[in-house]
Amino acid sequence: MFSCKNVDITHTYTHGRKTEFMFGLHKPYPKVKSVKRICEITDYYMNKYQRINLVLVGDRLSTIKKEKELGLSEIIIDGKVITPLDNEFNAIHSYVDRIKGSVITFNTNKLNKFCNWDFGIGRHDFTGLRKGNSSIKEVTGKVYLQYIFAHEFAHAIDAEYGLSDNSELREIYKNQEERFKNISEFIAECFVAREVYSDNEVANKVREIIDSIALKA
Ligand SMILES: [Zn+2]
Repeated sequence: MFSCKNVDITHTYTHGRKTEFMFGLHKPYPKVKSVKRICEITDYYMNKYQRINLVLVGDRLSTIKKEKELGLSEIIIDGKVITPLDNEFNAIHSYVDRIKGSVITFNTNKLNKFCNWDFGIGRHDFTGLRKGNSSIKEVTGKVYLQYIFAHEFAHAIDAEYGLSDNSELREIYKNQEERFKNISEFIAECFVAREVYSDNEVANKVREIIDSIALKA
């Protein structure tokens, strides 16, 4: 296993967008393979959704200083301040502002535990969509890096376009409410479910609405 130390690189995308990747500035260092794949999947989504700004991606112990510089204050989930090494989260999306957009950070301690990659559906681009699936929840809780990243990226799209306030999405959510924490989580879980399975009607409908909004040039 090769560890990844002191990665601080920037990828540039269309429309002047830049994403900084910060990994392995502190122990425990992530695996080289994991970091490479996170960079690949970031490239994939940034090229696909050309209006999403994602200013920073990394493991949270490495990014915490930069997050403060960006003006992000502490992250509170369910009334509790989340530290970089808390077990409560796999990854977190935060929204800086309209110009800088979003930040996606992984739990530094957990990153090495979810380096397993669902190759069955393609390395980073979800090319091998599976048939079937009756339940959106089926993909929730699986710790593939692909799924975790896609989930957080869906939050970035939500933040940019205000998907949670979209009346069509709210209407669909009304019948699903009791199974999800809130509408943001519902949207993110549908987004990922559609990346993995082809036949879930609710996930397909939600994804169709997201893409009709977010894929517009
Ligand atoms: Zn979420």
